[in-house]
Amino acid sequence: MHYFQYRDNELYAEDVPVREIAAKVGTPVYVYSQTTLERHFKAFTEAFSGAPHTICYSVKANSNQAVLKTFIKMGGGVDIVSGGELSRALKAGVDPKKVVYSGVGKRDDEIEYALNTGILMFNVESEQEIDRLNEVAGRVGKKAGIAIRVNPDVDPQTHPYITTGLKKAKFGITMEHAVAEYKRASEMPNLEILGIDCHIGSQLTKVEPFVDSIKKLKELITELRGMGIELKYLDLGGGLGIQYDAEAPPLPADYGKAIKEETKDLGLHLIFEPGRNIAGNAGILVAKTLFTKERDEKHFIVIDAAMNDLARPSLYGSFHGVQPVVKDQDGLIGADIVGPICETGDFLVKDRQIPMFKQNDLMAFMSAGAYGFTMSSNYNSRPRAAEVMVNGDKFEVIRERESVEDLVRGESLPSWLA
Ligand SMILES: *Cc1c(COP(=O)(O)O)cnc(C)c1O
Repeated sequence: MHYFQYRDNELYAEDVPVREIAAKVGTPVYVYSQTTLERHFKAFTEAFSGAPHTICYSVKANSNQAVLKTFIKMGGGVDIVSGGELSRALKAGVDPKKVVYSGVGKRDDEIEYALNTGILMFNVESEQEIDRLNEVAGRVGKKAGIAIRVNPDVDPQTHPYITTGLKKAKFGITMEHAVAEYKRASEMPNLEILGIDCHIGSQLTKVEPFVDSIKKLKELITELRGMGIELKYLDLGGGLGIQYDAEAPPLPADYGKAIKEETKDLGLHLIFEPGRNIAGNAGILVAKTLFTKERDEKHFIVIDAAMNDLARPSLYGSFHGVQPVVKDQDGLIGADIVGPICETGDFLVKDRQIPMFKQNDLMAFMSAGAYGFTMSSNYNSRPRAAEVMVNGDKFEVIRERESVEDLVRGESLPSWLA
């Protein structure tokens, strides 16, 4: 459920006509509904009522500080994958004790920064990272809380690029090595073992892969207890999918029920790292038709947004629904919606029946609240889009559209060319 709905023939973001936002801020523009963000966060946390848990929102899905602050105010923590994300989250006011740090390649300076900030724990992804964490923690005189990210070798049945929990993936430590690594870590002076972690992939549309990985982790937890290694936290990562097209992912309540059932006797504090499930359907990308091209073979709608603004269709062949901001088109047409970028892969919609958009028509790409703006780039020297947050009948810009000056900031000519 989200708050992008039609009133008469006009698309609204909560109580604001999307047309008004586009008129004031220009296009392309990302528009987020704060009420939807809150509703999704609430649904997720309520799904685990009765079980001690913390929601550590995955910053990479949508890292705008206004979005982070919305969840932080509701008691959320964050899952970060870089020093940059930590800096954003701290700026937005996150409690460091609710920060978990994932990622296969943490640099020394990032580790130091996180230790000095006093984050809850590092989700350790390799044997060498364990040694490095111990070393850096010793150097800065802190103890590093850790969970080992275990790769449970479960197929999440999602797109291969967002599958992370198979043995062949670069993520985590394999089940076979995990026990030995816990033992090794438990003997290191600057580490404190706090938990166990897994994250098997993104856009999962079934509960079973989550349950299967918990079953595998439980075997490990039992083995660790036998060795006198007690854990406090069970971090189950993110990955719960959303509806983009015709998928029918489980509701947070059903996901919660299955997980509570599977973890109830463990006595561990649960941590979740949802990203897409909370932010995905809370945002849209609004763009404008520049030209239409009719050919015998094919019809193209050329718009002012491109793969640099919303990369998912080009990157994964992902589906985003497209809707007119004002419904006044003459029926449907089979067409591609493409951007101005000089790549054949630059499309947002491919071979689909869509409204017959005319020049200057506005359109909204749905479900663009997660992995939308955060994956955007400046390719073709295109300034990145503005971001707007709506609440009820109010809206404000939460990130200015980039300017052409922004594009060359930091560049300089070498002395021999100046
Ligand atoms: C990307 C990521 C998430 C969030 O995934 P979603 O599918 O958006 O819920 C959570 N944890 C880790 C470690 C990630 O890399």
